[in-house]
Amino acid sequence: MLPEKIEEFRSLLRQRRKELEAYSEMSAEARAAVELDQSSVGRVSRIDAIQQQAMALVTERNRERDLQRIKAALVRIDEGEFGYCVDCGESIAEKRLKFNPSVPQCVDCAP
Ligand SMILES: [Zn+2]
Repeated sequence: MLPEKIEEFRSLLRQRRKELEAYSEMSAEARAAVELDQSSVGRVSRIDAIQQQAMALVTERNRERDLQRIKAALVRIDEGEFGYCVDCGESIAEKRLKFNPSVPQCVDCAP
């Protein structure tokens, strides 16, 4: 892949990483909210709060996973491995990378 292309993907990945980290910070409150409210709210709204917290936790887990994939992709760029499938070593289609630059596998190896 052309170095310019790789730089393009690098800045996309960095941008995405920044966004995810910002969301993570913003939602930290939602994940911690239940304990704070427990004494002051009724049962129904507490259940509501617990459900919201559970959702926030799932979202955070997904975000954490995305973040790990992005960091791994940035490492692959540094090591000159970017754009190659981590399983078979074949190059990953550029269209696939454009859709998601952190994707580690080619279409054949993807689970
Ligand atoms: Zn592969």
